[in-house]
Amino acid sequence: MSQHSSNSADTRRGSAATPQGAMQNHPGDIPAPEFRAAMHRAADLVADYLEQVGHYPVVPKISPGDVRRLLPEQPPREAEPLDRILDDYRRLIEPNTTHWNHPGFMAYFGITGSGPGIIGETLSAALNVNAMLWRTGPAPTELEEHVCDWLRQMLDLPSEFCGHINDTASISSLLALAAARERLAELDIRRRGMAGRDNLPPLTVYCSDQAHSSIDKAAITLGFGLENLRRIETDDVFRMKIDALEAAIEEDQAAGRRPVAIVATLGTTSTTSVDPLRALAAIARREKMWLHVDGAHALAAGICPEFRQHMDGLVEADSMVVNPHKWLFVPVDCSVLFVRDPDLLRRAFSVIPDYLTTTETGVTNLMDYGVQLGRRFRALKFWMVIRAFGVAGMQERIRYHCALGRQFAEWAEAQPGFELVAPVPFSTVCFRAVPDRPPEQQDAFNERLLTEVNAAGPVFLSHTRLRGRYVLRLTVGNLRTGPEHVETAMRLIQEAHTRLLNERPA
Ligand code: PLP
Repeated sequence: MSQHSSNSADTRRGSAATPQGAMQNHPGDIPAPEFRAAMHRAADLVADYLEQVGHYPVVPKISPGDVRRLLPEQPPREAEPLDRILDDYRRLIEPNTTHWNHPGFMAYFGITGSGPGIIGETLSAALNVNAMLWRTGPAPTELEEHVCDWLRQMLDLPSEFCGHINDTASISSLLALAAARERLAELDIRRRGMAGRDNLPPLTVYCSDQAHSSIDKAAITLGFGLENLRRIETDDVFRMKIDALEAAIEEDQAAGRRPVAIVATLGTTSTTSVDPLRALAAIARREKMWLHVDGAHALAAGICPEFRQHMDGLVEADSMVVNPHKWLFVPVDCSVLFVRDPDLLRRAFSVIPDYLTTTETGVTNLMDYGVQLGRRFRALKFWMVIRAFGVAGMQERIRYHCALGRQFAEWAEAQPGFELVAPVPFSTVCFRAVPDRPPEQQDAFNERLLTEVNAAGPVFLSHTRLRGRYVLRLTVGNLRTGPEHVETAMRLIQEAHTRLLNERPA
């Protein structure tokens, strides 16, 4: 209390209360020549890193807590020279991270720090613009609209689809489901909420048993509730079963629930299977439900006309998401949500406090289309990537990755003691060893196989479970991956396989 009164007294005294000397020197940013020199060095560090990243093991051989033990417990009291900080970056940070830029990174879905994308990311950090309103970021707002439209054209989507950029597919799908909910205008959910209303039927959402966990998170966040997210069975190639979906919708309707949305996956996380989009679109239309397509990774392949054969019916969707940071060579983060009717997003989310009102008319204020107010200038890096590679160059890279994926799949299929577990529509291969052992022991065998292969260092694969079985998974999406890296993966798998088969039982 006494401290509070003395602060108020200081404020009343105005500048007389400013500590002696505090304004004699303007501290400002670091001196410009120092900054310039450090930026040149940082550019060299980045270029060296990208050239030599393949020399690191993909996953660092360190244990939890090792990095923190290398760092001083307290922050530095005095300024340190940038050169020393960059030395420490090189010594402590760079070697101790998992290298997503490594040509042997074939786990999950890759994210690629392409040269042009890194330059764009750096320039946007320099501008440090927050394009919440057109006025606070005219070029970022218009560039975002423009590159989203370029992407729309690259995917051959009709012109009514309007895109905007979020950080991740998780957020893009959440926003899409919020728009689907908003379309039920008569329920007035924006104003009345979903909780504690007697007359609101449970609103149900449908996705396959292979859909990404981000859909569960969206159902939790938006108040649908996990109980009302129906995970529909898939067929033998991991696509949502239409008859099972229809039966679930019918059952829900009969029980007084209200089916609201179908989330189809175009490129599931495990196998990159694609749900039957055209049939799902027909059901969505008939039942007046929203169709959202989660194409976070594989929709990127739609920039190549020949891969659109896997995407029949896509244009019927109400919304879709694709992440340029997964497979369009843009550094993380950058996710594009396309919606047919962006006004629904605005109706769901626009709240304009007085201090954010502006006088411009006919402009897009990006804050109106989602939850967040502030936003990074992500369009710049995407713009640079599209221009520096060209659409043809981007197509060539996707095709190359798919050819490498197919090469590995052919090997896995032909290899004695292995089987392919799913079709390979793009560049992701699910496979497993099938030693002559009971199923649980086969799972343990594959788990050990993966651990051994990854421990070697030059490659990093991941795993999944399909129909309850442990499965290995290799995906190609990295700009630096070539045939030699896929061949290294094959060799390491084969060697570990032989070693494990020859082990004496304990
Ligand atoms: N959807 C699919 C099909 C995915 O595979 C993933 C992640 O791999 C996501 C959504 C989530 O992506 P994000 O990390 O951008 O939220």
